[in-house]
Amino acid sequence: MKKEPFVTKGQLDEIVKTYPTPFHLYDEKGIRANAKAVKEAFAWNQGFKEYFAVKATPNPFLINILKEYGCGCDCSSMTELMLADALHFSGEDIMFSSNATPASEFQFANSIGAIINLDDFTHIDFLEKTIGHIPETISCRYNPGGVFKISNSIMDNPGDAKYGFTTEQLFEGFKVLKEKGAKHFGIHAFLASNTVTNEYYPTLAKTLFEVAVKLKEETGADIRFINLSGGIGIPYRPDQEPNDIYAIGEGVRKVYEEVLVPAGMGDVAIYTELGRFMMGPYGCLVTTAIHEKHTHKEYIGCDACAVNLMRPAMYGAYHHITVMGKENDVCDHKYDITGSLCENNDKFAIDRMLPKIDIGDLLVLHDTGAHGFSMGYNYNGKLKSAEILLKEDGTAQLIRRAETPEDYFATFDCFDILKDMKRG
Ligand SMILES: *Cc1c(COP(=O)(O)O)cnc(C)c1O
Repeated sequence: MKKEPFVTKGQLDEIVKTYPTPFHLYDEKGIRANAKAVKEAFAWNQGFKEYFAVKATPNPFLINILKEYGCGCDCSSMTELMLADALHFSGEDIMFSSNATPASEFQFANSIGAIINLDDFTHIDFLEKTIGHIPETISCRYNPGGVFKISNSIMDNPGDAKYGFTTEQLFEGFKVLKEKGAKHFGIHAFLASNTVTNEYYPTLAKTLFEVAVKLKEETGADIRFINLSGGIGIPYRPDQEPNDIYAIGEGVRKVYEEVLVPAGMGDVAIYTELGRFMMGPYGCLVTTAIHEKHTHKEYIGCDACAVNLMRPAMYGAYHHITVMGKENDVCDHKYDITGSLCENNDKFAIDRMLPKIDIGDLLVLHDTGAHGFSMGYNYNGKLKSAEILLKEDGTAQLIRRAETPEDYFATFDCFDILKDMKRG
C-alpha cells in the first residue's frame, strides 16, 4: 500500500513558520477514528477496556483524547502513574504493569487504587510487605516459555523474556494470593511484539482462556478479566498489510465463545494495553534536510537525530520517509538519511531510494506516534523536540514545547551553570 503522510505540504509550510523543525506531529482525526474502531471491535464484550500503554506516547493531550473513548492507562513507572493520576483516571482505570518494581511504586499504585499486575511470584511477598496487605483485585502476568508460534511460524521468544510467572508459578501464585485475601483475579500476557497479523490476539487469547479455565477449576479463583496486553502491530513498510481490528475482535470473540462461555466464564472482561496500535500511525517526525554530503556514499543530514527517534538506531527499524512536495517524483537517488550525533548508527535510513533531496526540503518520517518521542534521550546534549497536534479542523496546537538548554541544565542546580554562562 502506498504510504501517504496525514499532513499536506501546505499545512506543514504553515506550521513551520511558527514551530521550527524538528518536531513530532500527531493526527487527531486518525487517533479518534482508530480509538472508535478498537472500541467497536470489542463491543461484544461487556467489560472490555483498552488501557493505553502510556510509555508509547506519554502526552496528556493525546491521552485525554483516548479517554473520551473509554480508554484507561497502562502504567509502568512512578511518573506514568503520576501522569494518569493527574489526568483524573480513577482506580480501576489504571493498570500498573511493571517489572523489577521499586517498593515506592507499588505503594503509590496502591494509594491511587490502580490494578496491580504482578510480574513475578516473589512479588506477592514483596507487595504484601510493602503495602501491608494483598489488594482484593490483583492480576498476574503469565509467561508460558518456549516460542510463540502462529501456524508454525515463530512470532517471538517468550522463553527468553524476563517477564511473567511460569505456568507452575501462576497456579501456585493464585492459591497463595487467595489465601492472603485476594478476591478478584486477572491474567495478563504479552508474548509477541509488533505483530502484523490478525491471528496474534486470537492465538494468545486461546492460550490465556484455556489457562484461565484450569486456574478457576484448580484454585477456585474468581477470574474477572483477561488482559491481552499490547503487541498488535502496524505496517511500518509499504508492502505490509495493515491489521484489521474488527477481524481481530471477531477472532477473540470466537475463542471466547469456544473456551470461556462453555466453562461458565461468559462474564470475564477482556482488557487490552495497546500502545503502538493506538498511536503509531498517527504521529510523524518532521525534519528539514540541512546538509548534503558526497563521500563514499550520498548522505543527507537532517536537523533531527536519533534522540528524536531511536527506533532505527536501536532496532534497525524501518520508518518510511516522504520528501514533502516530491511525493510523485521518481525514487532514483540512493541516500543515507542521518542525524548529527557522534554515533554512526544515527541514521534514519540506509541506502534508501528517494527522490532527489534539496537542502531545505521537509522530510516526514512516518509512524513515529508510538515509541517515538517517548524513547528520546539527551545524548550529545541534544534537546527533545516539541510535540504538535494537527487538529481535526486542520490547525496546529503545541502540546509539548521543545526542551531548552535551561531544561537540560536544570539538574545541575548546585552549580548555577546558567548564571555563569550568561555572565560569560
Ligand atoms: C510496551 C507494553 C505495552 C504496549 O505495547 P505495544 O507493542 O506498544 O502495543 C503494553 N503492555 C505492557 C506491559 C508493555 O510493556
